[in-house]
Amino acid sequence: MILIQGKGASKGIINGPLYFYKKADTTITKTTVDDLDAEKERLEAAKAKSIEQLEALAEKAREEAGDESAILFETHAMFVEDDDYVETINDCLEEENCNAEYAVKTAGEQFAEMFAAMDDAYMQARASDIRDVTQRILNNLMGIAEGGIDSEEPVILAADDLAPSETLQLDKSKILGFVLREGSGNGHTAILARTMGIPAICGCGEELTEAYQGRTAYIDGETGKVVLDPDELTLTIFRNKFAKQQEMKELMETMKGQEDVTLDGRHIKVYCNIGSPDDVTAVLNNDGQGIGLFRSEFLYLKSDDYPTEDQQFEAYKTVAAAMNGKTVIIRTLDIGADKQVPYFNLAKEENPALGVRAIRICLNRPEVFRTQLRALYRASAYGKIAIMFPMITSVWEVRECKRACEAVMKELKKEGLPFNPDTELGIMIETPASVFMAEELAKEVDFFSVGTNDLTQYTLACDRQANDLGKFFDAHHPAVLRALKMTADAAHHNGIWVGICGELGADLELLETFLAIGIDELSVSPASVLPLRAAIRKSIAKTCTLDKLECK
Ligand code: PEP
Ligand code: MG
Repeated sequence: MILIQGKGASKGIINGPLYFYKKADTTITKTTVDDLDAEKERLEAAKAKSIEQLEALAEKAREEAGDESAILFETHAMFVEDDDYVETINDCLEEENCNAEYAVKTAGEQFAEMFAAMDDAYMQARASDIRDVTQRILNNLMGIAEGGIDSEEPVILAADDLAPSETLQLDKSKILGFVLREGSGNGHTAILARTMGIPAICGCGEELTEAYQGRTAYIDGETGKVVLDPDELTLTIFRNKFAKQQEMKELMETMKGQEDVTLDGRHIKVYCNIGSPDDVTAVLNNDGQGIGLFRSEFLYLKSDDYPTEDQQFEAYKTVAAAMNGKTVIIRTLDIGADKQVPYFNLAKEENPALGVRAIRICLNRPEVFRTQLRALYRASAYGKIAIMFPMITSVWEVRECKRACEAVMKELKKEGLPFNPDTELGIMIETPASVFMAEELAKEVDFFSVGTNDLTQYTLACDRQANDLGKFFDAHHPAVLRALKMTADAAHHNGIWVGICGELGADLELLETFLAIGIDELSVSPASVLPLRAAIRKSIAKTCTLDKLECK
């Protein structure tokens, strides 16, 4: 038996073949070929496959995000067959008697450079479309699987670490779980795994070797164990735990349709965290009562260029309409730190978590902010949208955000476009500064939502991305809980509600403390809704105490 001990990052038991994620190696060298016709055939097959993929993507985009998003893929499909582009590739093949990869890469670069050198900003921006199409043909030539997983059956995905943007590109239907050599349970890949409701383990170290490719692994996302060739006893333990997990899932079904209310009548809003319109299905399946955090930056991370106002509008509108009048809190762009988006060209920083991230980027780049706010306000006509600003430290930042909202509403009014002028505005409390300023900040907004992932990081001076801080990264630390209490008191003192949308919100060990603090809303991954509801329904709010705030 082989046992690798990592750290549990997303609960659940599963077994399946290990598949090591390969970052696309696109190094292309020129080779001389003997059979040029065979090379041309390979090229034609790769082009046909690319067109097929792009048409499927266009169809999916049309269903999920409307015509404008579909047009992008349709244009890409047309470009694969563009006469000049194809002629340049063929000329290169014939003149140089070379491999198709080299000819495609050379033609792609030539075209991209030509567009980039044009005066017109629109044409310049097409250079990235050409690179994208070229890369797709190259991937198909080199057999690099779309969605990163070249397997018919679902797998347990193994990797060193995965950037959030890489995780987003993966074909989720093929993933049973994640096992990472590095990574942290507080990073966004772990958060995505929890949103998807699949087990994940990080910090497995070098013992997780590629020699295990294809072998069946048993993983337990709670204990952090990865087992190959289990002995009888281990197998029995896994099987029993798996059976219990299934039983629990069935039991939780009975919670659907029940109220989120304690035995003594305190109502708590149990909402969900999502990263894309696709996640709404999981929210509805788990009977989430609203969306407490839509991480809008994942739309930017998925894209090769700034998502347009219309693309964003369609995404927000889809979510708002699907939630059918229930609250949908959309957080404005929160990139920087571990969420890097190449086309933003952010300067390299020594300490990106303390750098120009989240609201700081939006306030520094008013055009990017305005586009998003316009999309949000336009979508507000189609459901109960609220807007939330991340990483706030000062009152002036909130006032500037509100001024940007006012300006956008004025524009939309002038243009005759519908929007909800009473759209609620809230802020995330995720810096110690915002806790200390909570009294003043509460006077500016309609609600607070505590981002405990960052609040823990900044309060305890512990990098949430690091996997070796161990007991020092302690989200149960009384300093974090006192910060929550101070925030809740300031919110209630000023007549606004307060929620938690960090991962701590789903921590059942703290539920009584949250009730004692007076938290009004808990926004958790969809899979955590029903267990949380079951726990709330067993609690008596008036007997809950603040013991955990005491010094340890
Ligand atoms: C948080 O910091 O707790 C939070 C919810 O935001 P994110 O995890 O996306 O930084
Ligand atoms: Mg945060």
